Amino acid sequence: MGIRAAIVVLVVLYLVLTCGGAGAKTASHIVTAQMRQNALANVEKYDWAKTQQQRAVGAAAALAAMSDEELWRMVPSQWVPRNCGVHQTAGCPNCGQEFFKVREVSYNRWAYNSKEHPWKLQCKNCKTLFPANDYGAYYESGLDGRGEFDPEKADKSLLFNPEHPEPNDPDHLKWVDDGFGLKYGDDTLTFIAHYAYWRWTECIRAVSLLTNAYALTSDPLYAHKAGVLLARFADIYPNIDYSFVAKNGWGISDGGSRKGMIQGRIWETSTASTLSEGYDTIYEYLMTDQELVDFAAQMREQYPGLPEIADPTAIARHIEDDLLTLFCEAVIAQNIAGNVGSTQRAMAHAAIALDRPEATERYLDWLFEPAGGMIPTILVDLVSRDGPSFEAAPGYSRAPNSLVPVADLLRSYPAYTKQDIYRDYPKLKWVFMSTTAYRCLNEVTPALGDSSKAQHYNQVTQPIDLLISGFRAYGTDDIAHEIWHSAGHDQSKLEAFVDIFDADPQALIDDLVARKPELPIRLESVNSSGYGIAVLQSEATEGGRAAYISYGRTCGSHPHKDRLNIGILAKQFVMNPDLGYPEFTGSWPKRHAWTNHTMSHNTVTVNDRKQSCNWSGKTELFEGGDTARIAIIDGGPPVYEGVTTYRRALSLVDVSDTDSYAVDVFWVRGGNNHRMVNNGAGQEIETHNLAVTKQPTGTFAGPDVPYAAKIAEPDEGCAAFSYLRDVSRGNATANSCWIDWDGVDLEGTMTEGRDPHLRLHCLSPVDELALAIGEAPHHRYQDDYYWYVIRSNLGEGVQSQFVSVLEPYEAAPFIAAAEPLQVTGRNVDGFASAVRVTLTNGRTDTVLIAENPGEMEAGGVATDAQYAFVRVENGVVTAAKLVRGTYLRLGDYELTAPAAHISGTVAGIDTSDWRDNLITVDPPVTASGIAPEALVGRHIIVRNGARSDACYVIRDIRDGGRVISVGDKTLIEQFADPQDYSKGYLYTVSAGEEFVIPLSAESGV
Ligand SMILES: [Zn+2]
Ligand SMILES: [Zn+2]
Repeated sequence: MGIRAAIVVLVVLYLVLTCGGAGAKTASHIVTAQMRQNALANVEKYDWAKTQQQRAVGAAAALAAMSDEELWRMVPSQWVPRNCGVHQTAGCPNCGQEFFKVREVSYNRWAYNSKEHPWKLQCKNCKTLFPANDYGAYYESGLDGRGEFDPEKADKSLLFNPEHPEPNDPDHLKWVDDGFGLKYGDDTLTFIAHYAYWRWTECIRAVSLLTNAYALTSDPLYAHKAGVLLARFADIYPNIDYSFVAKNGWGISDGGSRKGMIQGRIWETSTASTLSEGYDTIYEYLMTDQELVDFAAQMREQYPGLPEIADPTAIARHIEDDLLTLFCEAVIAQNIAGNVGSTQRAMAHAAIALDRPEATERYLDWLFEPAGGMIPTILVDLVSRDGPSFEAAPGYSRAPNSLVPVADLLRSYPAYTKQDIYRDYPKLKWVFMSTTAYRCLNEVTPALGDSSKAQHYNQVTQPIDLLISGFRAYGTDDIAHEIWHSAGHDQSKLEAFVDIFDADPQALIDDLVARKPELPIRLESVNSSGYGIAVLQSEATEGGRAAYISYGRTCGSHPHKDRLNIGILAKQFVMNPDLGYPEFTGSWPKRHAWTNHTMSHNTVTVNDRKQSCNWSGKTELFEGGDTARIAIIDGGPPVYEGVTTYRRALSLVDVSDTDSYAVDVFWVRGGNNHRMVNNGAGQEIETHNLAVTKQPTGTFAGPDVPYAAKIAEPDEGCAAFSYLRDVSRGNATANSCWIDWDGVDLEGTMTEGRDPHLRLHCLSPVDELALAIGEAPHHRYQDDYYWYVIRSNLGEGVQSQFVSVLEPYEAAPFIAAAEPLQVTGRNVDGFASAVRVTLTNGRTDTVLIAENPGEMEAGGVATDAQYAFVRVENGVVTAAKLVRGTYLRLGDYELTAPAAHISGTVAGIDTSDWRDNLITVDPPVTASGIAPEALVGRHIIVRNGARSDACYVIRDIRDGGRVISVGDKTLIEQFADPQDYSKGYLYTVSAGEEFVIPLSAESGV
């Protein structure tokens, strides 16, 4: 039957079937008959579709050429041992340890080819086949009344080495494997069990290849062959018991749980998804497949223990009862359970393919139960409103991506209306946008937590196919822009993602082209306060500069203890690299003592110990814009015992289209020994105005403590100190010195002749300044290291204000002098600092930063702002900016603002429309005469009690200034009780909390 004839037949049958008995499955849902028709139409129209179809046909050709019985016999059964490997260390019984010279990892060193060498694995080094015996004959001899292997029944006399057939030959049993492994020295090598693992994998994949070919051709041949395999899986699956695998010490990805079905419980999620989707895809043909009924009868003649199959409906029922339902129940029993998303997808696949009233609903409900699939917990409690999950490391934080296929599956099954993940979980939209939360300069993902490599100048992007799901669901411009970003703004990359099942696949591309963002992208400074990173950056991407403060999660499995760590990116170079992914995870000593320790980060270590962990720091002030920008972030819930202030201010100031410097001020009160750490990406440093003496031996922990000595924190001191070697110390009484790192391009991504530098100007006196070498994880080569600068204020109950200017430059420095200025005239408590930066072009900048806004004077500049910037050129003020203040004066020059900020109290919130989250405030924000338009785009900072920070961008002002819209950044924080969703939410912002909207004024910036 040709393809077209098949379609006609199918369409007719489809009509007949939909008129059939009420309630039972009537049609495919995941790849519907309509979608298959679309695919055929697209193959006619488009070359790419034809290529896709040809590829699918090619991949299934060998399977389609097999007889039904061959396919049927391919599937193993419960009592054939199965194991993911042969042996970790034993090597090959013939070539020994030479085996390990094959350049492939672990079990891929054994070649599997069921056609050429049934029941044998081949050493890829010496080409010997194992085991020596004909296990196939032994297996056949043990088949029971259902065609399943029964070792009790099998003929043990077949277990011998055919080259040594005589029973008294000493080699008669050499290299013989009865399924439980062959003996090689003291080791047991599980060749047959590993072969069986591959054979299971081959059978599962066969269903996928055949159903895919069917979906793209509608050729019944593929559906029939897939039906043979699925019906056989249904014969066998009820007997499947993973405890047989676990108790023999074997495993196939069970994550140590000793639970699973055919495979361990992690990989079985994919078995369930593949076989379920396969059944759903071929369902409509299966219901007509009399040939399959006849074949089943024929096999039953050979194996009378098989179930009786009267008609196609009986086959469907067999697969539904003995395969799909068992998948669902195994998920509930956690015998099928993988990483986030895969478990839920397995359940959704099986339940939707099953498509039975009551049962399907019950199984889909499970996805949303706190003790079940926990989707609400993941998408409410574990995801930040910016999209990344609770895991700080960018790579790990994308785990919720894997719920997107579940959202799509549920939409393919409209009969289930109780839940729609896209509709009901507002943070999901931001999951698509998650990499924007930490993206710098439109091209770099900082190596936060256990992610990436030190100095890696690259980015994590979202997969285009995932983004297309988001775009189909939400249709927003911001997701369209993300698609273009992931595609590198290259339309040909998008064309690869057209969907062959679409009625009009080109429509998606046309829609995206219509929303293509204008290039070059203009950058904005962004405070992702749900995730916890404040990024200040230049507007131009070309030659862009960024400085960030990281203040998100420090708890969990993959963060570093790095609250208020800063990063500087300039010259397409990571100026002060975070160490990134550790050499090894787990309890690797260097990981905990150094790589994720506070001391290896550009922040302040107090009490000579690692920070304690919590959810988030809190924004004190954030103002982006052009030329001069400021972020002030508080450490949040105490990260150190006895420390009452732990707060950092970072300002990024442009000096030209290609250069910027950062002013960095860190305030700490309480505890003992405040140690401010900075590193650069250099193995050579130059210093100025600095007198230090080399410590002849030992490490920062002391002259007698060797490198990497184990120090138990806190009793024996700071665990990180012994990882700082080649120490020099001085008492650094000079209040102006610099250290200059000559950047080394360890990544090898920079062009020849580039010469990035970072110069740290130290502008505050400290008790001790030390230089030392710290080592990056040795992912690349053994001599990876960086120079660290440790500025310490020693003693009990210390108060510190560390003031620095960071100057990333190339070729020649642009700062002629950076110096601290004395601050006078304060009328409020708290730290205040001022620096004067004299540029080599003769301009001078004065930057004033205060812990609390109030009056101050320094270097002739008088202001009441929390942040002030003035640039003077030839005695004339050419640029000025003040944030959270009303005046800035220098000589005759004056810049004023009508108000420092707007403040008040939150009266209530409204999250009923997830696209339009509202905060009601008292008094109205326009009370002092500020126009609502002047507030849109500014930040409202709520001094909140929730775990997350609450700095939101104002999108709209309504109701006479009483209502502020923060758009689609949700105000929902987490569940009140994650075990009982009916108790409702806790919100990021609550009535009664105080808020502030800092205002600013600027001129010439
Ligand atoms: Zn070998
Ligand atoms: Zn780190």
